[in-house]
Amino acid sequence: MLRTVSIPVNLPQEKFFFLMSQCADIFNAHIDWALEQKTYNKSKAHRDLYSQLRLTYPDVPSALIQATRDNALEAIKQTKFKRTPRKNPTSGLRYDKRTMTLRGEQLTLSCIGKRVKLILNIPDYFREVYDNWDFRGATVTYTKQTKQFWVRLVFEHPDPPKLETGDVQGIDRGLYHLCSTHDGKFFSSNKIRATQRRYLYNRKQLQQKGTRSAKRRLKAMSGREKRFMGDVNHCVSKELANQPEYRIFALEDLSGIRNQRRGKKLNKWLSSWSFSQLEFFLEYKSVAQGKETAFVDARYTSQRCSRCGNTNKANRQKSRFHCRCCGFKAHSDINSGTNIRDNYFLSSAARSEEQAVVNQPIVTA
Ligand SMILES: [Zn+2]
Repeated sequence: MLRTVSIPVNLPQEKFFFLMSQCADIFNAHIDWALEQKTYNKSKAHRDLYSQLRLTYPDVPSALIQATRDNALEAIKQTKFKRTPRKNPTSGLRYDKRTMTLRGEQLTLSCIGKRVKLILNIPDYFREVYDNWDFRGATVTYTKQTKQFWVRLVFEHPDPPKLETGDVQGIDRGLYHLCSTHDGKFFSSNKIRATQRRYLYNRKQLQQKGTRSAKRRLKAMSGREKRFMGDVNHCVSKELANQPEYRIFALEDLSGIRNQRRGKKLNKWLSSWSFSQLEFFLEYKSVAQGKETAFVDARYTSQRCSRCGNTNKANRQKSRFHCRCCGFKAHSDINSGTNIRDNYFLSSAARSEEQAVVNQPIVTA
């Protein structure tokens, strides 16, 4: 697993702006080449482009040209030629072992001319990772709004072994609860929705104004909203992942569910980035503890009775679930959560059955 920490740093502005814009050109040149040649082979790119780029950008250290080349070709490989990754003149720089060193708290970075030396101020919460994990590389980025350079350090550590015991928890997500578990833990989204409403209102006001200062305030606001949502998602996912009795967290697979008739409001919420952020946080926080998250079939989880299996739209009335068939009553989110957990059991049973069929010896008479 990987961890990244961002540390604000002071760098010689002019040098780094120049370097960033040159590296952006080098990056884009590789992308153009890769699209034209229909390949992301690094040694072919080196043979075709390197000497020309050295001549065009004589100030950029050769190792940095190579790091940028690797960066570009890996980016295009990831998109499978379907999109065109581009860098602009203030895009971040990627550093690897050839272009930087990290000894103790001293970081050196390749730059125009001599390497730049920095003493990093490592935050306390990152100490353990910093001292014990393997350093993999870093990026240098620049934030225009605050005129600040950042170094983002990436560290790697082997995943802990998977836990062998522990229960499965079904987690339901919705509009009124950020999420709720089958055993009755609720994480309300009241505060989130109130905050989002406030931001939405303020945004509309500022957009109508349209002045330069309004635009500036809009930008600052979007940053604040993101940080607020990120914080909420961190807290909730941490609390979920830390429950000692659970080993597997089952969530509804919501990809593709947007087409169904779910209402405009819910669809908007389901497709928001903060929604997938919670999944992402929960996934990596579980892995760090030897646990896992699983995504299961989401169909009818809110209409089906978790006791007798009767599926009927009328079973659910807002937050109340009342089965028309067997009379089972529960909070509808708890009923959904239980269904999600049971869907996990069903799908894992189906998987192991399939496996058993594959493993069966072929007997011929
Ligand atoms: Zn029932």
